[in-house]
Amino acid sequence: MDCPICGGPSTLDERHPEVRLGHCTRCGHRFSQVKPGVAMEPYDAAYFEETHRNWFSHPNLALFEQIARLVDREPTPGSLIDVGCGNGALLHYLSGRSASSPVALTGVDLAANGPEAGIEFIQGDIFLLDIARQFSIVVSLMTIEHIADIRGFVRRLRALARPGGLVVINTINDDSTLYMAARMLRRFGVVLSPSNASIADTTCTISAGLRCPNCSKPRGCGRPA
Ligand SMILES: [Zn+2]
Repeated sequence: MDCPICGGPSTLDERHPEVRLGHCTRCGHRFSQVKPGVAMEPYDAAYFEETHRNWFSHPNLALFEQIARLVDREPTPGSLIDVGCGNGALLHYLSGRSASSPVALTGVDLAANGPEAGIEFIQGDIFLLDIARQFSIVVSLMTIEHIADIRGFVRRLRALARPGGLVVINTINDDSTLYMAARMLRRFGVVLSPSNASIADTTCTISAGLRCPNCSKPRGCGRPA
C-alpha cells in the first residue's frame, strides 16, 4: 500500500487480526486497511456506554483546560466548533467553566446529542453537512485517526476556521512509548486495548496535513492548501 499522506512506500504488518498495518518508510505515517470480512465497529450508544466506557468515563480534563485557555485568549465574542464531538464532553466542560470568556459552542458528530441550552449540536457527516459559517476556534479531538481521507478532513477543518482562526487537532501518538510497548506485547499475545478498525496515525501526519503546499509552513502563506 502506498502512504495516503505522501504516496511513499510502506512496510506492512499482517499480524493484527483485523487490519493490515502500514508504516510509511518516507514520512513515518502509520495507517491501516481493514481486512476482508472484518466489520467496522458500530458507532451507537453502546460505543460510549459499554465498549469504550472507560475512555469516556475519564475525559482528558487537562487537555480541555488547555483549550479553555485558548478560548480565553480569543477576542470576544468567540466561537468554537468541535468536529467529532462524541458525547460532547469538551463542550460540556467549556459550558460549565465559569471563568471562561463567552463563546458560542457548536458540536458536530455522527451521533445525536442534545438539545441542550448553550450548546448547538449538529448531527451528521462533516464532509456532507452544509455549515455556512466560520469559527474562531476549530477543535477536533481523537477523530482524525478514524478518517480515511485525512487531507480532505484537514481541508474541511481549515475551511471552518475564519481567517486567522485557530485549528486544534489531537490524535494518538503512535510513536509513544506506550504504543511501542503495546505493539511489542501484542507479539506475545498480550492485548492492552481493544484495537479495532481505526486508522493508526502519528502526530507528524497532522503537521503534514496542515502544511501549506505552496510555502511548506504550518500556518501557510494565505493561499489555499
Ligand atoms: Zn508517507
